[in-house]
Amino acid sequence: MVDALMSAFAMFALKDPSLLAFDERRHDQNLRNLFGIQRGPCDTQLREILDPVDPEQLRPAFGSIFREAQRGKGLKKLRFYQGCYLLLLDGTGYFSSHHIHCDSCLTKVNSDTGEVTYQHQLLGAVLAHPDHKEVIPFAPEPIVQQDGSTKNDCERNASKRLLRKIRREHPRLKLIVVEDGLASNGPHVRELMDLGMHFLLGAKPGDHAFLFEQVTAACDEGRMTALSWKEGDVRCQIFFVNKVPLNAENQDLLVNFLHYVESGPDGEIQKLFSWITDLRIRRSNAPLLVRAGRARWKIENETFNTLKNQGYRYEHNYGHGHQHLSVVFAMLMMLAFLVDQMQQLCCPLFRAVWTKVKSKRALWDNLRSHFRHFCFQSMKHLYEVILYDLGKELPPPILDTS
Ligand SMILES: [Zn+2]
Repeated sequence: MVDALMSAFAMFALKDPSLLAFDERRHDQNLRNLFGIQRGPCDTQLREILDPVDPEQLRPAFGSIFREAQRGKGLKKLRFYQGCYLLLLDGTGYFSSHHIHCDSCLTKVNSDTGEVTYQHQLLGAVLAHPDHKEVIPFAPEPIVQQDGSTKNDCERNASKRLLRKIRREHPRLKLIVVEDGLASNGPHVRELMDLGMHFLLGAKPGDHAFLFEQVTAACDEGRMTALSWKEGDVRCQIFFVNKVPLNAENQDLLVNFLHYVESGPDGEIQKLFSWITDLRIRRSNAPLLVRAGRARWKIENETFNTLKNQGYRYEHNYGHGHQHLSVVFAMLMMLAFLVDQMQQLCCPLFRAVWTKVKSKRALWDNLRSHFRHFCFQSMKHLYEVILYDLGKELPPPILDTS
């Protein structure tokens, strides 16, 4: 089991394009030296061994990496406001098919044709900071078939499950949860408060009409504070009001409302955002909170788009299985991504190699070719050889011809 899990992890760490490509390096000494794999299973065995694995069992691996970084003060630079980290949540699909499916697939039936689409989605949760490119993912929550509810219900339920797990695993971590407007509802806001998490959630006039009426009323009463400044040709404005009821059903639930507008030289509005938060808004922290709200795109851009484009092949089907294989692969890919992001954030050697070869794609190419052609004692050894061009001085590998 350990060898199978580590083999799949190694495949994602090396960014191999397929399980078959990884299978070709099965007898490589480096798999033992760098990943501790004693006897790697062949691709068919690997799928069979991993299919019944409960994805929940993989969560502790994320936790132990996270705690190590915490102990080494590696996460300190991601702290955003009053010792809190920004926790961004977003769901995304990674698999869709009309034919291939398993027990945990979400199913969508076309009401006109009756055609069934099978899908997999994950709810991702990452720590991020507007000034840093790196994001630190927690173990994602699979959005899997539960009770035939709709997508949004599923994503909301997944977010409930995930936030509880994060709180259980990190009881003292100070967090500001940043989510889109779907999250701005009474039950979810109360849940966040119960979990001791601050929040900054999107709000839209169409979805939150009552809230916006209250804000208008507060404005008429002179309770609204406005800030305005210019950045080049662009006029930026922030409006905020504290303590307004969230909605008609939750009038006792008071939230603070933050609104941001960017307009061009001719006065036309270019950007417009609104959020609700439990953090008391002041003139001094309002621009900072706007930056936090706008950092939400980082989970889409720096997490899922990176997984889709920068060598990870998030949407490639490495094997679907009958029970959990598809989810297990997706979780292990996220784990490999966590290791890479942690190295990028905390490891000077990794950063030096990345700077030298200039791009992530070139970095993964170098990693794979060195892995294939030379024998290393550790990952550190491998990166040092790339950094100092020591490859030509290494003895050629002993070929295993058995
Ligand atoms: Zn499936």
